[in-house]
Amino acid sequence: MSETKALVLFSGGQDSTTCLAWALSRFSVVETVGFNYGQRHRTELEARGRILTILRRWFPAWDARLGDDHMLDLDVLRQIGGSALTESMAIEMGKDGLPTTFVPGRNVLFLSAAAALGYRRGIADLVGGMCETDYSGYPDCREKTVAAVAEALTLALARRVTVHTPLMAVDKAQTWRLADQLGGKALVDLIREETVTCYQGDREHRHDWGYGCGVCPACDLRAKGYRKYVGA
Ligand code: ZN
Repeated sequence: MSETKALVLFSGGQDSTTCLAWALSRFSVVETVGFNYGQRHRTELEARGRILTILRRWFPAWDARLGDDHMLDLDVLRQIGGSALTESMAIEMGKDGLPTTFVPGRNVLFLSAAAALGYRRGIADLVGGMCETDYSGYPDCREKTVAAVAEALTLALARRVTVHTPLMAVDKAQTWRLADQLGGKALVDLIREETVTCYQGDREHRHDWGYGCGVCPACDLRAKGYRKYVGA
């Protein structure tokens, strides 16, 4: 089999961990990239290392495929500010009709930085957890946006850039199901115990679906999806 390489945008959350498993089951070499953009809560980034370590230990076939992990600083997003993810402010609907958790330009910057890193690493296939089904209407998670960014990057780098978004059309219950299909109960358990979705970065309160504050919109989505997945 000829070598195929992918670079996964890996934040340490449920979605990007599922995307990582998806990539590991399809590509022969998989590298990961995380972004530090001045998130108020570091728990998601702290989870990355633990998840990679456990993935390597529990899934030897994936361990053989898992390549380098990269961290890039995109502090410009914190400097621009105005988001509940980078500043202390309430999570609610903003005047623009989007939740205050929206970080303008985030996914465009992430994809641009990942494509540039991929250019240096000889990787044309990017994998991201963008999803347009049950997210909060973030315009940069939409399929049309991601396709347009991939096209712009292909032009800008004069080299093919493909962005795979395995979660684009699925809901949170299907994301749990996909993890189950890819890595069975072990992967579901890993995602439950170690990934961080909560907007508050809560690692204190333990639920059947994992850790989180239990009340923020991200916890709400994760909990509802989990209950639907287990048929509760
Ligand atoms: Zn929460």
